[in-house]
Amino acid sequence: MSAAIEAPFGLFIGGQETAAHDGQQATLLNPATNRPLAVTSVGGREDVRHALEVADRAFRDSPWAGGDGSQRTKVLFRLGRLLEEQAATFAELETLNMGKPLRESKGDIDFVVRTLEYMAGLADKIEGETIPVPGARFDYTVREPLGVTVHIAPWNYPLLLAVRSMAPALAAGNAVILKPASLTPLTALRFAKLAHEAGVPPGILNVVVGSGREVGETLVTDARCASVSFTGSSDVGRRIAELAAPRMIPTVLELGGKSPVVVFPDADLDRAARAVANGIFQNSGQMCWAGSRLVVEAGIEAQLLEKVKAAAQGLKLGPGTEAGVTMGPLVSREQMDRVLGFVAEARDGGARIVVGGGRPAGPGLQEGNFVEPTVVADVDADARIVREEVFGPVLAVHRFEGVDQAVQVANRTTYGLFASVWTRDISTGHSVARQLEAGIVTVNEPPMTFPQTPFGGYKQSGLGFEQGRDAPLVYTRRKNVIVSLGAAKAKK
Ligand code: NAP
Ligand code: MG
Repeated sequence: MSAAIEAPFGLFIGGQETAAHDGQQATLLNPATNRPLAVTSVGGREDVRHALEVADRAFRDSPWAGGDGSQRTKVLFRLGRLLEEQAATFAELETLNMGKPLRESKGDIDFVVRTLEYMAGLADKIEGETIPVPGARFDYTVREPLGVTVHIAPWNYPLLLAVRSMAPALAAGNAVILKPASLTPLTALRFAKLAHEAGVPPGILNVVVGSGREVGETLVTDARCASVSFTGSSDVGRRIAELAAPRMIPTVLELGGKSPVVVFPDADLDRAARAVANGIFQNSGQMCWAGSRLVVEAGIEAQLLEKVKAAAQGLKLGPGTEAGVTMGPLVSREQMDRVLGFVAEARDGGARIVVGGGRPAGPGLQEGNFVEPTVVADVDADARIVREEVFGPVLAVHRFEGVDQAVQVANRTTYGLFASVWTRDISTGHSVARQLEAGIVTVNEPPMTFPQTPFGGYKQSGLGFEQGRDAPLVYTRRKNVIVSLGAAKAKK
């Protein structure tokens, strides 16, 4: 069977599309149908070495790293504009490759455009400082780019997460190499071409598709790799940290979550229910910051669950490209089986399935990787479904009585990426927000973030942060310089 997109996708190295050294290719499937979608080159060690050599040379030889950054500002703005012009094409490609509804892909591309604009605006504002010191001396600091920075991305927001991590590194004057997830490299490959068109010099933005084990680990362990930004699972994040430790290179780790949504009885329950549903069913729950644990006051549990159930039943499952579809398939068959396994185990353990719990029966849905929006209540506190990241449209429900217990249950996890609190009491809202162990907290809002707000996890959800004003600084070194103003004139 031939692929729906006929022209194969190559790797992108040194400003051009290129086949893998050994000619290896893979066929990607459309997750809504499991039919062939496109063919991509699959790189290996040789391609990684080539990319590192090209990026290292570009970093040293091209004017990208030097100067005042205004050139980088112009180029990144231009890139944002080009992407905005082609947003519809990129959104469609994202949906075909990853599965999420077109409306969500459009939102993702908008976020990428805003990220490029925001980071473009920072590229000419990376400044040092002067520091008063004793004696006839002048002390100043400079911020230098690191060199070749490596970025490893997952499949759930393919282009968004790749650019979220690359854009600040580019703004700071580094040369970047991206390894996208093997399942979803298409938009990143198109994006690299667009960057070239916008004026990013050859070798400054490279994309090597290939397995995490081979391409990812070869990139991270090479002497030319100056830093690693990894977005993905906590297990692989731990492995990246181990690989980076011997050379002491900086790492940014954006990992998994098991995020609580705490609902107090005085909350606006209609809004809360919509936000709970949105926070776990959007992107079919394949979100690092999914609100996958509902922590609800015992007295309103039944009432709130009725509303969440209604929201779940109101979702229309289908291929993300189809009009009116509000929930797409999971990214792969493997992911679908994994998610269904979690639900089956919870059911066997005595949990109550409030809604969903299996594969949907609708026409055409059997071919794709669809899972019903699912709510599981009466779960055991130690069950795997409440401890581990399911990464699918599955909400686990806990009950509490009183504020202290709410906080205790919410924080009972090794993760700490996102948390949310729903109450009309302003003091409860602020005080619970302070007590929740998470890097991102919303009060009476669904999961929400912007390019200008920091995004990072507490506990085993990660290390460091992305987004926000300081993001480019992560990709710089700070050097302190002391200059003598002449021994003779030295004053005490
Ligand atoms: P994953 O399995 O950890 O993979 C992420 C990336 O790492 C992929 O590109 C993967 O390549 C690569 N990789 C795998 N093993 C590697 C290794 N040994 N060395 C170097 N790279 C390696 O995660 P995923 O399944 O794609 O995505 C889901 C996870 O990402 C969830 O845990 C989710 O919570 C997390 N996530 C976190 C954030 C955040 O901002 N905190 C955002 C989104 C997702 P292959 O594709 O070739 O396996
Ligand atoms: Mg994986």
